[in-house]
Amino acid sequence: MEKLKIAIQKSGRLSEKSLDIITEAGINLINGSRKLISQSSNFPLEILYLRDDDIPQYVADGVADAGIVGENVFMETGIELEILERLGFSRCRLSLAVPKSGNYSGPDYFSGKKIATSYPNILKTYLQKRGIKAEIHVINGSVEIATGIGLADAIFDIVSSGSTLISNGLKEVEKIMDSEAVLLASPLMEKNKTVIMTDLLFRLRTVLAARNNKYILLNAPDDKLEQIISILPGMKSPTVLPLALKGWSSVHSVVNENDFWQVIGKLREYGAEGILVIPIEKMIF
Ligand code: ATP
Ligand code: ZN
Repeated sequence: MEKLKIAIQKSGRLSEKSLDIITEAGINLINGSRKLISQSSNFPLEILYLRDDDIPQYVADGVADAGIVGENVFMETGIELEILERLGFSRCRLSLAVPKSGNYSGPDYFSGKKIATSYPNILKTYLQKRGIKAEIHVINGSVEIATGIGLADAIFDIVSSGSTLISNGLKEVEKIMDSEAVLLASPLMEKNKTVIMTDLLFRLRTVLAARNNKYILLNAPDDKLEQIISILPGMKSPTVLPLALKGWSSVHSVVNENDFWQVIGKLREYGAEGILVIPIEKMIF
């Protein structure tokens, strides 16, 4: 049987998490990571380990049928490919940063300035859209030290917590894009492989859904049940079971990570007690 070839980063910030999501989807890999290629023992899949920058091109050329890469890298290549799924990990942003002491008033600040970056294409597009003429200085790696050593007036780089900027005397002033790992598909994928891709995608989505949701159990006084249920969507609707103690019920539901703290706050306000929150292993719609 044909195998689906998926390119992932060989070693770096995406590697581990790319392997994690694949194995969480129930796909066992033989001879693990750090090789050039590994196979699966229980799914028609082959992993190609590459530098992240090369992944979009390999996918475009059909050498790989799919690839996992940061959106930032994908956008920078300018290659047009379909994003099959956003994978929710390796979140970061691409931002412009200037020395802490600089009095920044808006993007016009960058007029006539020298900006160091590893993302010249994304930056060029941004500057052009605003009619700002600046000098782009391309460097690969350690962009954050460029202003300190007098190489540039500003930088355009990946930011996650922002601590790297702070420790280099910089402040983030404009966010240009958000990024996360994405699954790219090759336009050249053969018909018989699209079946495998569909199966893989289904599995990945169950993993993502499970990661984004929590199972929640709580005790509710019966006279507050209606209110409590109204804020708990569940997959269809919450489960309500009577407790042995009269006047109380146990409510089970699924809550999305994004609404989680807000929902918990409301539940307590409405009199819910003994709230348990449990991770979900897989979630199938
Ligand atoms: P390669 O050797 O494959 O070219 P690299 O050095 O270019 O690797 P990494 O530093 O491993 O790349 O980062 C890979 C991707 O991880 C980035 O392009 C970005 O999408 C994401 N990323 C980078 N920094 C962070 C961070 N601090 N937090 C979360 N994600 C990040
Ligand atoms: Zn890279």
